[in-house]
Amino acid sequence: MQRQLPKYFSVATAFMLIVSFSCAKDDGVDNNSGGGGSLLIPNGCDNVGYPNWSVSPHLLPYPVGQSYAIGLSHCGGAQHAAGLPDQFAIDIVMDIGTLVTASRKGIIVFVEDSGGDFEPLNNVVVLRDEDGYFLQYQHLTQNGALVEQGQIVYAGDPIGYSGASGNARYPHLHFIATNWDYNRPYGSYPYQSLPITFSNTRANPKSLIQNEVYEALPY
Ligand SMILES: [Zn+2]
Repeated sequence: MQRQLPKYFSVATAFMLIVSFSCAKDDGVDNNSGGGGSLLIPNGCDNVGYPNWSVSPHLLPYPVGQSYAIGLSHCGGAQHAAGLPDQFAIDIVMDIGTLVTASRKGIIVFVEDSGGDFEPLNNVVVLRDEDGYFLQYQHLTQNGALVEQGQIVYAGDPIGYSGASGNARYPHLHFIATNWDYNRPYGSYPYQSLPITFSNTRANPKSLIQNEVYEALPY
């Protein structure tokens, strides 16, 4: 009994911590915290020329056979609102420790994985793909990167394990393509995010839609 009591309290404390993060609408700590459960469910961004999803060079950033739901997506409000640097970011709802994979062939140009889950430092892997898109995998778990800077990866290769670093309000992968110039310090703003679609799942003409579930299909 005495051993179970502290365990119960730690679970309850963790739960309350998660609830309090979920309710923090304007913590102002991090620009990529995600905010799943927004009331606004837009169908992609307006007045944007989306690339044809059926021939997109980009794959979903998780292994074939896996399915995940989408939190905030393109122009989904909060930090993903139209006009903000993260307007084309996609929050993929994943438990801490979920394998994420290369969306496309490219070179790893940045790795940070020293931050703790639900702590301020945002763990990020950045993959520069063949067209110069910087594909950013944010909120990875501590020591969760499976790649090193300078490494060449092929589509589907392991990148790392998702988490909740960077003060994420709940565990998810914040996946975004940007034009970030990696000669500047990571996180220098403004970077622009870019609209990408995905070829190895069902139709996504305006990319992935909030609250929908997408399975990664063989490619
Ligand atoms: Zn996000």
